Amino acid sequence: MGDDTTHSSQNTDPWRGRYADRAAGMVASEVRALFAVASRPEIVSLAGGMPAVGALPLEEVGDMMAGLVRDRGAEALQYGSAQGDASLRESITEVMAREGIDADPDDVIVTVGSQQALDLVTRIFVDPGDTVLTEAPTYVTALGVFAAYQARIEHVPMDEHGVVPEALDEHLTRLAAAGRRAKLFYTVPTFSNPAGVTLAAERRPRVLEICRRHGVLVLEDNPYGLLHLDAGPTRALRADDPEGVVYLGSFSKTLAPGLRVGWACAPAAVRAKLVLAAESAMLSHSAFAQLAVDRYLRTQPWDEQLKEFREMYRTRRDAMLDALSATMPPGVTWTRPAGGFFVWLTLPEGLDAKAMLPRAVGARVAYVPGTGFYADGSGTANMRLSYCFPPAERIRDGVRRLADVVGTELSL
Ligand code: PMP
Repeated sequence: MGDDTTHSSQNTDPWRGRYADRAAGMVASEVRALFAVASRPEIVSLAGGMPAVGALPLEEVGDMMAGLVRDRGAEALQYGSAQGDASLRESITEVMAREGIDADPDDVIVTVGSQQALDLVTRIFVDPGDTVLTEAPTYVTALGVFAAYQARIEHVPMDEHGVVPEALDEHLTRLAAAGRRAKLFYTVPTFSNPAGVTLAAERRPRVLEICRRHGVLVLEDNPYGLLHLDAGPTRALRADDPEGVVYLGSFSKTLAPGLRVGWACAPAAVRAKLVLAAESAMLSHSAFAQLAVDRYLRTQPWDEQLKEFREMYRTRRDAMLDALSATMPPGVTWTRPAGGFFVWLTLPEGLDAKAMLPRAVGARVAYVPGTGFYADGSGTANMRLSYCFPPAERIRDGVRRLADVVGTELSL
């Protein structure tokens, strides 16, 4: 029965043995367990992925929300539809147009963050034992969703230009030869979490063609696309294959994660199923949160705010990359993200990032070990470093401390 757990306190759980099999796939993520340690003030946390919401003009946002309740309280405090507010869905199509997507508001369903969209898509497509293919490393909580639905998770390697199309094709061909077909190919093609890499423009049509040829739906998760730090926005995969791609978006990184507003943009039949699944999951999303985001987009200077976020994250990213170059011992390598929140670091052969973590915490710096971002135990030599939350000076201190720890490990 599905009663595996990492918590010993649950060994005394009187309901042990009664849980559904799928509950066995639900284990605390390494990232969550880390947050408690990493939030101690003396520790520089390069572990979390929390956006710097403190940069928002909170007074103005507060006034806007008070105005919303005053003007449209009866609507904002009422139930809404399972598909989401029509005016917000129209605003969302304008947001997606920045990445080349031409969508109708009816293609969109508003969800509780893009995390819920991930859950709903998996719920309607994945039976226990079905194969879900992901690039690797990949978003840890997406792995959690696929595991919760008892998917068989398989990986396709990526390099500094994103997922490797030949490897994707080979993998799908191998599955077909064994009489299997993946239900989904999950990818974070732009400023990925955790690798900080972006799928190269010339690979994008190839990835779409391969998935189309093998009859695999692409799940494009894109919460970071508008946090481009070097060039303009990247054209979304969905822009070039609206029938073959379900696109997930979010206001968590570009506005505020506390509002929990994300969305899926899907082919019509898929979208209709998502709405039915959403109805059973939540009746309707918070009308208040949806109207607040829509009012914000329509009345506040979001573009200015995005510019400010980008400047702040660019400064922090540069601080991290400069500090890595200045302090890391030879043999350590890392990615150079053009946007988003994350750098992916690879330690020299023989070092284990998870085993090293207690020593790093002792030296007052925290990161996320790489193994959590794979379903198959890979990633021992890797770690994810995030530059989104601490200010530049703290990032420099943190990287310096980490480099000392790595240097000591190497000399042992
Ligand atoms: N996908 C990716 C790749 C993410 O990094 C995150 C947030 N860490 C999410 C989805 C979920 O974001 P939210 O539910 O806040 O929209």
